[in-house]
Amino acid sequence: MSLLVVGSVAFDTVKTPFGEAEDVLGGSATYFSTAASYFTDVRMVAVVGSDFPEKHINFLKSRNVDVAGLQRASGSTFRWKGEYGYDLNEAKTLETRLNVFETFKPTIPETYRTSDVVFLANIDPVLQREVLHQIERPKLVACDTMNFWIGGKKAELIKTLAETDILLINESEARELADEPNLVRAARIIQKMGPKTLIVKRGEYGALMFHADGVFSAPAYPLESVFDPTGAGDSFAGGFVGYLDNVKNLNETSLRQAMIFGSVMASFNVEDFSLNRMRSLDYKEIESRYREFRRLTFFEDIV
Ligand code: AMP
Repeated sequence: MSLLVVGSVAFDTVKTPFGEAEDVLGGSATYFSTAASYFTDVRMVAVVGSDFPEKHINFLKSRNVDVAGLQRASGSTFRWKGEYGYDLNEAKTLETRLNVFETFKPTIPETYRTSDVVFLANIDPVLQREVLHQIERPKLVACDTMNFWIGGKKAELIKTLAETDILLINESEARELADEPNLVRAARIIQKMGPKTLIVKRGEYGALMFHADGVFSAPAYPLESVFDPTGAGDSFAGGFVGYLDNVKNLNETSLRQAMIFGSVMASFNVEDFSLNRMRSLDYKEIESRYREFRRLTFFEDIV
């Protein structure tokens, strides 16, 4: 199949209790594409400014990401500045500069129009829909968002969700979107907005999948050192959607496996700043951590 993503490509400035990084490669589409590239071919739609170095584009190409839909505009690249306390589950946004995204009008290449699977990574929900409407007959539409858009553009976001099959968001965002503190009830409310499947990411506590057949819970990998949680959500989504695109089916077995591949990709990503861990990651390591996840959660039935 063919997987298309629209989202941000960014310069991130990040501070965690373990160090800091300034103007490093980030963005929802960047993390997503890199993680998904271990499973399938990815086409990227985004915009960068005149300050964006060629070496970052070459990195995406080295991961086989199709960057024909990555436009370069005059102006500055999107910038995000965030900070984490010892509770690494929640980023505190210090600054968001949309820059070239403010005037971005995505026109996707002709070859992208027949994409089967579309991932609307975290970006303005209006842009998410503008891209989605240029795809002829997507078989699966998955989506991510964040509090910035839930708070700032809720009505637009709800229109995007009406056209979405799977939504992946974190716990506090799910509560805020549904305006309901109980997660199970919040999930039901969100499912009524459109996405039949809802994945709630809970940082170091793992992730939950709510869908017709009930609830599935994936643990997070117990890591000894977590340096930077930035991009964990997008890497999760990349593993999850990338795997589904690869196996071309959405049955319960595949969805559960995708949850684990998502968790595996997120667990690698947080081991270093920016995309540094994924720069040296190979597929054998992914497989081996997948098997460790299996051992982590296996237990015998009672007799
Ligand atoms: P996450 O996977 O949720 O940690 O996503 C982190 C990435 O999201 C960072 O690399 C940021 O550049 C990007 N980001 C942060 N805020 C926004 C926003 N409002 N719109 C699009 N991307 C964003």
